[in-house]
Amino acid sequence: MGVPAARIVFDENDRAAVAEAVSEMLATGALTLGPWTERFEQSFAAEHGAPHAVAVASGTAALEIVLRSLDVRDRDVVVPAVTFYATAGAVLHAGGRPVIADVDPATLALGPDTLEAALTPDTAAVVLVHIGGLITPEAEALRALCDTRGIPLVEDAAHAHGSSYLGRAAGTFGLAGAFSFYPTKVTTSGEGGMILTESAELRDEARIHRDQGKGSFTTNHHVRLGASWRMSEPHAAIGTVHLRRLKEFVETRRRVAQRYDAALGALDGLRPVTEPAGCRSNYYKYVALLPPGVDRAAFKRAVAEEYDVRLSGEVYDLPLHLQPVLAPYRRAALPVAEDVCARQICLPVHSDMTEDETDLVIEAVSAVHRRLAG
Ligand SMILES: *Cc1c(COP(=O)(O)O)cnc(C)c1O
Repeated sequence: MGVPAARIVFDENDRAAVAEAVSEMLATGALTLGPWTERFEQSFAAEHGAPHAVAVASGTAALEIVLRSLDVRDRDVVVPAVTFYATAGAVLHAGGRPVIADVDPATLALGPDTLEAALTPDTAAVVLVHIGGLITPEAEALRALCDTRGIPLVEDAAHAHGSSYLGRAAGTFGLAGAFSFYPTKVTTSGEGGMILTESAELRDEARIHRDQGKGSFTTNHHVRLGASWRMSEPHAAIGTVHLRRLKEFVETRRRVAQRYDAALGALDGLRPVTEPAGCRSNYYKYVALLPPGVDRAAFKRAVAEEYDVRLSGEVYDLPLHLQPVLAPYRRAALPVAEDVCARQICLPVHSDMTEDETDLVIEAVSAVHRRLAG
């Protein structure tokens, strides 16, 4: 049977709905910044209980637009060491300096203490990342800490479509949240991104930035250093159709994670990153830490060769401060980030995963763990 590392789920109905939408827009010629983009924005905002949404070309563009709207040029922006390159890349492209902070080992996110340690007199913004879809129980405390210093909190919610903490959705803890619809994310538009924000002013700035910094759609007066960050109508239609499945996808992913939690608790030394009370993760990733000293590459090879189970990509295998291109922003060792990046594996979670597939992953991981780490 085997289990792939990732599977993108569009059933026949969804494919037909996208085909019909694309056919219609090809007939009308409304191919960018049209009714599907608006529909996608409205439904994504409603799904997360956010007042405003702006659809853009990618998750990275969403982050960069928010940071440009806040104007972080020549100033510091705190980012966690455990995140995708794009979190720091967006800071640099927006003209800021990433200050890379360590993380809390329980949530793989910034904590109040690791954030405090990274704040400088010139901090322009802080980016909180919901790794694997898990929202830290400290999210509100982090916002409060930022508020007392007058620093905007931004969420990189690329992993966290539909995740919540005490009923509050990802993307609504900060001044703004940036989502990605890259194909492997929990819902996709092919390529694409979304900004959620509580601020009507930031929404307006984001709309200007995404369309070449034009003051309005119909004039050619460029008032900001924007770029070609629009979302096309075909992408918006794919994203809108896929979003209808989000609740069901998250339910399925959570059932898989519960099965993993129940089975892996019995394995000595393997530590799943479990949900703290009040968190409702979308389980974009199911992260577990191998015991120190276990060869991750050998572990992954063994489950692949012996069980045809492919572990999904790590989040992440190398912390930001050790990425070669970010070497100029390396200040000190970040021991927690280095440890959790070196030891993590991610078990496959699919939005249509079957119990048989889940059980095969458990069998594979348990057997290989007993042999290599037991
Ligand atoms: C995917 C991802 C991004 C970038 O999204 P794109 O749509 O690929 O630009 C940013 N941050 C994190 C944490 C991501 O996982």
